[in-house]
Parts: sequence; structure tokens; C-alpha cells
Amino acid sequence: MASRRHEVCVLGAGPAGASAAAELERLGVDCLLIDRARFPRSKPCGGVLPWRAVEELHLPGEVVERPLEGYRVFSPSGEAVESRFPSPGAVVRRSTFDAFLLDSLEGKPVCARVSGVRERRSGVELLTDEGRLGARYLIAADGANSVARRSLGLGYGKLALACQYVIALPEEAVEERIGGWFEVYYLFSRGYGWLAPLRGAVKAGVGGLGSAFSRRALERFVRTSPVAEKLEGGRVLRYQAHRIPMGGPMERLATRRVAFAGDAGGFVFPGTGEGIYYAIRSGAAAARAVAQALDGRELAQAYEEEARSAGLLSLRDVDFLDTVLASPEHAERYVRRLKKLARFQ
Ligand SMILES: Cc1cc2nc3c(=O)[nH]c(=O)nc-3n(C[C@H](O)[C@H](O)[C@H](O)COP(=O)(O)OP(=O)(O)OC[C@H]3O[C@@H](n4cnc5c(N)ncnc54)[C@H](O)[C@@H]3O)c2cc1C
Repeated sequence: MASRRHEVCVLGAGPAGASAAAELERLGVDCLLIDRARFPRSKPCGGVLPWRAVEELHLPGEVVERPLEGYRVFSPSGEAVESRFPSPGAVVRRSTFDAFLLDSLEGKPVCARVSGVRERRSGVELLTDEGRLGARYLIAADGANSVARRSLGLGYGKLALACQYVIALPEEAVEERIGGWFEVYYLFSRGYGWLAPLRGAVKAGVGGLGSAFSRRALERFVRTSPVAEKLEGGRVLRYQAHRIPMGGPMERLATRRVAFAGDAGGFVFPGTGEGIYYAIRSGAAAARAVAQALDGRELAQAYEEEARSAGLLSLRDVDFLDTVLASPEHAERYVRRLKKLARFQ
């Protein structure tokens, strides 16, 4: 790994880091992108992308595992409401999708594990398994278990656990029982379950705050009606679990020298666990803020403004945990309200 000091270091080459690096390249800012993994790598994720992401990224067909028509939301009593996208969304495999995001970059990620980050007066220092690295600014896009957050003594906010099965199911059964819909089930307090259709397979998962959201909860979810009927005849291929922020964007999006993007900044919609689109947007916003900081602006202020104008701070206004997900009764009322609204559209 080259040891020269860079203007900007981007830690993590998932959607947030790839997007930050792309925006820095577009702005002509020197940057080094680092990830401990070699790509393509997999990431526990439903892989659900809203239509806006598909449109903005001009996502090519070969990256799309299955086009998505929209969301279907279920209440505890089985009330269902559909919300159709104006144009197709997608379900993707993260190994293919993340590699696609990196493809367009000139500077490919350097493989190194970062074990610590120190903030200095004039920049940041990263401790890697191959030595130290310096940069004037850091974009920390190192996911939900961010080493950068931990090193700088910042809390994680509301960090949930999400776990999922990848279940093989004949393609005709996927088509007939789920089709092109991302199904979200509000059956629990402080969390939710979901089904995401792949080709010849389904991802079934649960996520939420607290120790209840374990593999045991996932087992219960896949045996609950109507999920059990939809998965009948399926065979579990893989179990995966990973942390996911559920409290919305962190109060402090940046320190003097470090901007937090993607999961490391808490940019996830807590009602469905979707974070990919927000990772991409927050990565780009962090890059624009860092470019301004290199010109003398205060980083935290620039990032707050960029995040706001990218529509990311509205994620703070949706207090799903304490409203919709507070209890099954709250969820029931919410879905019924959505259903009523849908009739007027
Ligand atoms: C089970 C589950 C299902 C989900 N389903 C969906 C979904 O359907 N749709 C959706 O939009 N979102 C979903 N999410 C959320 C989504 O996966 C994340 O929001 C998204 O991956 C965030 O992107 P990111 O770039 O911030 O972080 P990540 O994708 O986690 O990337 C972080 C990168 O940093 C690297 N890294 C971490 N630590 C270090 C280190 N110390 N040194 C070097 N490199 C490091 C990692 O290798 C990784 O490549 C799901 C999450 C889970 C857990």
C-alpha cells in the first residue's frame, strides 16, 4: 500500500464508500479507497432497491436479480396494503451490485483492514494491518460496526440486529406467491419481518431492536401464516446476520476531520431496514462536504447542509420505532390508515 498522505481517505467500499469515491473523483479530489474485503464480496442484505435508485444509477439488467413492482405491507391481523412504484425497483445480489458500483471508479479499492482511527490537528491517521496511513479528511463508510466511530469514542445510537435465510424455492412458486413485491410484515414490537423475491429463491428476514430479534425469531417468522404458506416446499440455503442502525441519522454526522456515511452515519429507513439508497446518497453528500472543507469550510456544517439538501435528514423525522413499531396495535392502526389513504389515490 502506498504510504503517501492523501487529501481524503474513504474507509469502506460498500455503497456509501463507492459513492463517496465516485463523487470525489468527479470533483477532482485526490482520494484513497480502502476495504478489508476483496471484491466481489457478499454482505448480509435483502438487496431491495427502490425505483429511484434503479433510475439514478441507470442500473443495467444484468445486475438486477428481479425487477420489483413495489411494497406490500402486512399488519398483525393480516390486513395488507400495496404501494406500487412509478417505475420498477429491483432486488440485487450485493456481490454483483457492489462490484458494479466500483466498476466505474478510476481508483480501485486497496485491500487493508483498519484497526483504529486517530484525529489530529491537521488530519487523520489510520492504523492498518500494513502500517499507518495519513489523510487530511476521512469519510468513514465502514458500515454498522464502524471502527472509526468506536475509535473516536462516538456512540452507535440504536443498533439493531437483522437476520435472514436465503431459501431455495421453485421459480413458479416465487412468481405465484410473491411475484415482484417486497413484503414487509409488522408483526412484532420494535421490529419487522420481510420477504424479498430472488430468482428461484426468497430472502426471509427479521430485524429489530433488542435480544428478541435472533435466529429463533426468524424461525418463528417463517412458520407464521401467511409467510409459512408462501415458503412451503422451500429449502434453507444460508443463514446470515448483521447489525443495522435503526434510530435514523446520527446527531453528529461529522467531527472536525471525519464524516460518517451510510450505516456508519445511521442512514437507514427504520420502517423497512432499507439503507442502500441512503448509503449512496450520504456517501456523495459527505464527499461534497469534504471538498468544501478542503476549501476551508467547517466539515460538520457543510455535511449537515449537504445531507439536508439531499433529503437525508427527513429520515430523522420518521420516528418509526416509537410510533408504528411501538406495539402490534400501533402497527395495526398504521396499516389500516395506509389502506384508507390508498383508496383515495
Ligand atoms: C439482514 C439485512 C437485510 C438488509 N436488507 C436491505 C434491503 O433489502 N435493502 C436495503 O436498502 N438495505 C438493506 N439492509 C441494509 C443495507 O445492507 C445497509 O444499509 C448497506 O449495506 C449500507 O451500506 P454501507 O456502504 O454503509 O455499508 P456496508 O455495505 O456494510 O459496507 C461497509 C464496508 O466497509 C468495510 N469495512 C468495515 N470495517 C472495516 C475495517 N475495519 N477495515 C476496512 N474495511 C472495513 C466492509 O468490508 C464493507 O465492505 C439490510 C441489512 C441487513 C443486515
